[in-house]
Amino acid sequence: MNETPRPGVFLDRDGVLIENVSTYVRRWDEVEIYPYSVESLRRLKEAGLPVFVITNQSIVGRGGIDFATIDSLHQKIMEAVDPHHAVVKSYLCPHAPEENCDCRKPQPGSLFRAAKEFNIDLDRSFMVGDAVSDVLAARAAGVKPLIVKSGRGLAQIQKMELGLAEVTENLETAVSLILAQLPHLKNGLDELA
Ligand SMILES: [Zn+2]
Repeated sequence: MNETPRPGVFLDRDGVLIENVSTYVRRWDEVEIYPYSVESLRRLKEAGLPVFVITNQSIVGRGGIDFATIDSLHQKIMEAVDPHHAVVKSYLCPHAPEENCDCRKPQPGSLFRAAKEFNIDLDRSFMVGDAVSDVLAARAAGVKPLIVKSGRGLAQIQKMELGLAEVTENLETAVSLILAQLPHLKNGLDELA
């Protein structure tokens, strides 16, 4: 069977789903979930769009905290933010910049990996982030980038080349833009069901 690839939505975590912490989110009491995150993920799920979280956690590679701790904190965050299980898989990059991995954004390695694992059509997919590195990773993978003003967004947008990504308020407005641009999606998904 040769299934048609389907579009997906890639999300950065810190600054998109939860408040960004400049020294990295290390403990549960530092986690601040944005008020619209649960509902935004639910809407993507309802639309039949598979969601992937792509997050740089170089605090691990820098030796600040071990991977198991960051990973279990991430699971706890996702349980709280995604009770409807919209997120198919999370890709955490634990590497420090000098490790030159292909999964640390702006490298697009995790997007390509998700596309391969879950048969995602990158050309019809979206990425929502609050940083230029998210935008560049999306563009390198052929995914349409949306940059939000939450988290580091406002400061990052000032540094960004004009027109590199569509600017929107936050995840809630980003999801509305995505759903508006995929009106044909439902039928396509029914075919695949
Ligand atoms: Zn990496």
